[in-house]
Formats: sequence, structure tokens, C-alpha cells
Amino acid sequence: MSDHETAPPEVDHEDEIPADHPRYTDLLTRHRIEAGVEKGITHLQGMHAEGRGSAFDYLLGEQTLPTADEAERAAAAHLLLADHPVLSINGNVAALVPGEIVILAETVEADLEINLFNRTPERIEAIADHLREHGADAGEIKGLEADARLPNLEHERAKVDADGIYAADVVMVPLEDGDRAEALDELGKTEIVIDLNPLSRSPQVADVPIVDNIVRAVPNVTDHARELADADPADLEAVVESFDPDDALAEAEERIRRGAVDD
Ligand code: ATP
Repeated sequence: MSDHETAPPEVDHEDEIPADHPRYTDLLTRHRIEAGVEKGITHLQGMHAEGRGSAFDYLLGEQTLPTADEAERAAAAHLLLADHPVLSINGNVAALVPGEIVILAETVEADLEINLFNRTPERIEAIADHLREHGADAGEIKGLEADARLPNLEHERAKVDADGIYAADVVMVPLEDGDRAEALDELGKTEIVIDLNPLSRSPQVADVPIVDNIVRAVPNVTDHARELADADPADLEAVVESFDPDDALAEAEERIRRGAVDD
């Protein structure tokens, strides 16, 4: 078997996936998404999204590009500078990085808001429970009220919390749908998007597009935030200013088109 082939992933628990498998991350993320669907936190559509992401990650060599690391550092600086940062959670985010996103929220003092494309009360409650099981403070999860609307979107997809995403100055929206990313952009939010497809609309409208797998990106943003925690605002501004979103997108696209998985 070549390094990039995948063994059949039929395991009941993620601990059974051999940690030395060359495609361990891919097997793990697939397993977590399947478990998320079974637990009612991830929509079936989330499996398709995962499949698309997995293909892009394969072409990126399943590693964080230097430009993605710069984006993750710029994201950390934006979150630390923000007055009201919010991290948006959908069914894939909850399935893939529940503990990691809770730790990031604590590190940068951000709110967590559940924000679903396929919104049902049952899924919202299941995701809130899942986040609480992974350390989120009971009662501190937003997205349950949905008492404000983003402009130019139909009713269900427009819903957000008035004191959450609607009032935020900086929002991190991992794996966001393109229409909603554009609506947030039009509202003037500083938008951080995590998406493995650099050609997708969401990273294209983002102030900080992070073209990386969310399982690598979120812990790395936290590491940068810890390192920058005592930096002066002027130094944080310098980190923000030195990041070029167009360069980061172009570098990721070039890497994917080259498809050079082994260098
Ligand atoms: P558009 O934003 O143009 O509407 P789309 O319809 O392909 O694009 P969605 O289904 O809304 O996208 O979202 C899925 C996106 O999430 C894909 O671009 C996919 O590459 C990305 N994605 C999936 N899994 C991951 C992951 N683990 N980490 C980062 N990005 C991921």
C-alpha cells in the first residue's frame, strides 16, 4: 500500500484507529463525522462537506502550509484585539473539534455560538450538550435564542443571536456556507474562515482565510494566542497588518493544483 492509500476504516471507536497509520488524520476525521451523524449533531450533508475537505487535504499533503500558519497567527491576533469575538459552531465543527474549540474560546475570551445551516431544535440541543460534555460552561453557549437576522438571507439561514454573532466585531466561522459568509462580510464583521478549499466563496470573502484542516487549525490558533497573550496591541496590529489574504489563498491554490503530496 502506498502512503496515501487508506485502509478500510471500520472501527467502532476512534481509539482503534492505529496512530501510526499514514492517513491517521483522515481516518480520525471520517470516524468523528460518522459518530457525529449517529449522535444527531452532524447533518448528513456534513458528510459530503467532509469528503470534499478530505480531497483538498490530501492534495495539500495533510499538513499546515506556512501561509496557513501565518493566517492562524493573524487569526489569534484578531481574536485577542477584539471587543466581542464569537466562534461559530456547526455540526462538523462540533463533531471534529469540540474540546479544542472550547479551549480556544477560553484562551481568547470568545463566545461560542451554535449556527446551523440545517437548523432544528433537536440538533441545537444535541450540539450544546456535546459542547458541555467537552468543557463548555453550561448556560454560556449562544445560538439558542436566534433573536436577530442577517440581511439578504432566507429566514432559517439568517438566524443568529442578537448578543452573539450579530453584535460581534470578530467572528470565526469554520466551514461556513458561502451565502452566510458574504452576509457577515456585508455587515462589516472581521471574518476568520477555516476552509480547505481556497476557491470557495467563504475564504474568498474572509479577512483571514485559513486554508487548513480544522483539526490542525484550531489548536494552532490557540497556540499562537497563548504565545501572543501578553503582546502589546501595537504588536498584535503588526501581526494583523503583515498577513496578506490574497497571498495565502494563491499559495494554497498553487499547492493544490500542483498536487505534490510528497514534498
Ligand atoms: P461554497 O462555500 O462555495 O458554497 P461548498 O458548497 O463546497 O462551497 P460547503 O458544503 O458549504 O462548501 O462547506 C464545506 C466546505 O468545508 C468545503 O469547502 C470543504 O473543503 C470544507 N471542509 C470540509 N471539511 C473540512 C475540514 N475538516 N477542515 C477544513 N475545511 C473543511
